[in-house]
Amino acid sequence: MPASTPDPPVARVPVPVDTRAPGGTTNAYVAGGLLVDPAARIDALDAAIGLDGASGERRDNGEPGTAAIDAIAVTHTHPDHVGAVAAYARLTGAPVFAHADHADRFAEATGAGPDGTFEDGETVGDTAARAVDTPGHAPDHVAFAVAEEGGEGEAEEGAAPRALLCGDLAVAEGSVVVGAPEGDLREYLDSLERVRDAGYDRLYPGHGPAIDDPTAVCDRLTDHRLDRERAVLEAVEAGASGVDAVVDAAYEKDLTGVADLARATVVAHLEKLLAEGRLGEEWAARLPRDRDSYR
Ligand SMILES: [Zn+2]
Repeated sequence: MPASTPDPPVARVPVPVDTRAPGGTTNAYVAGGLLVDPAARIDALDAAIGLDGASGERRDNGEPGTAAIDAIAVTHTHPDHVGAVAAYARLTGAPVFAHADHADRFAEATGAGPDGTFEDGETVGDTAARAVDTPGHAPDHVAFAVAEEGGEGEAEEGAAPRALLCGDLAVAEGSVVVGAPEGDLREYLDSLERVRDAGYDRLYPGHGPAIDDPTAVCDRLTDHRLDRERAVLEAVEAGASGVDAVVDAAYEKDLTGVADLARATVVAHLEKLLAEGRLGEEWAARLPRDRDSYR
């Protein structure tokens, strides 16, 4: 690696926020001119985007290294990712962008009506970040692909390492919640496969450290879901005739504090199995019916 390697252009700023993710922080990122997932306003994030932390005024002096931003977006509109979208839009004057299919949901969650929209594969406003649809954890979930110049130096000449700001699609350790009514397991597994096959050099998740081995982590997360699916199916085959009975059978560990997430996860698995014709039709009446209201 040459000694003059510049700082990687992906800046990760962990933001303390009310989240159930381990660590109690959500990562905000500044990459390719895009501010992603500003979960709350903190000094470190002010500094990362070139705001003067004391006065809140835009520095905007064009100095090299000043990461003035060209746009603001979120990976999805869960409350632990959106808290300071409106504040940073106001402070920086940067336009706010939402996925074209979910602009209303975005405005409701962020309090910022989007100034523009993007669709899968498009760049976000004037930034160098490109949207990659990755539904599953949430119906509006999207990731952002950026070129990571000054990375490990493993790429061919002229081809910078490719990074993906992957939101809650993946985490370095453990797993993310894919639960009803927000989550859709079939979409989630498709998104994992899509990201895996795209061959990114690094993933930057919504919670926790960067992922340097995207293929292994995508495989691990997929296997984890399929293991759970097997347990759910076995519980059904052993006679469980309702969601609660499946939860009891499919989880061996103590669920104190996470029982709601376990139940939501089991419902998502049952929905997938039902949609695939792998459960009897009687299960349609046994699953919660509030799903459409979230779509
Ligand atoms: Zn989320």
